[in-house]
Amino acid sequence: MRFTEVIPIEFSLHEMNRLGGNLDLQGEVSIAERVAGEKQIVDTPPVHAQLHAHREKGQIPVDGTLTGEVTFLCSRCLDRFRYVYTLPYQESFVQSHEPVLSGEEDAKGRYLFSGDTVRLDDSIADLVLVQLPLIPLCQPDCKGLCPVCGTNRNRHSCECSTERLDPRWEVLKELQWGDG
Ligand SMILES: [Zn+2]
Ligand SMILES: [Zn+2]
Repeated sequence: MRFTEVIPIEFSLHEMNRLGGNLDLQGEVSIAERVAGEKQIVDTPPVHAQLHAHREKGQIPVDGTLTGEVTFLCSRCLDRFRYVYTLPYQESFVQSHEPVLSGEEDAKGRYLFSGDTVRLDDSIADLVLVQLPLIPLCQPDCKGLCPVCGTNRNRHSCECSTERLDPRWEVLKELQWGDG
């Protein structure tokens, strides 16, 4: 797993006001620390964010696009594969007059911030992480590994017979024919 140094994506209200309430932002957000325990994730380069923020009464909507990729191990065949994503980003930020925790939201699901600095990295990481597949597959119809010989069935076929009678059917057969 690679831990890349990234510049946090954030902006100051002061700077935004100086620019007339509109701000274009781009930067990179690391999610590697957040997925460090996931065995099926081999590599997670930073997420690239291209965003626009503007000031409204009582909130700051931010929207744009997140792009990036994750290298996964396929759940069925254990091959490595690249998962490339492009996600729409749309969140709102609300200033709190009390100290808040990083990533804290209000009742409407808007991210809270205190002070002058709006940090976007937690909201970006949250969005990417919920969109990643729980059961990553190299292709939708991945044939997986043969349970008998371990051959990757996407690349080779084998002669193993994997038909096994479900033990529950054995019970049924006895029920039907047992009195005969
Ligand atoms: Zn696969
Ligand atoms: Zn086999």
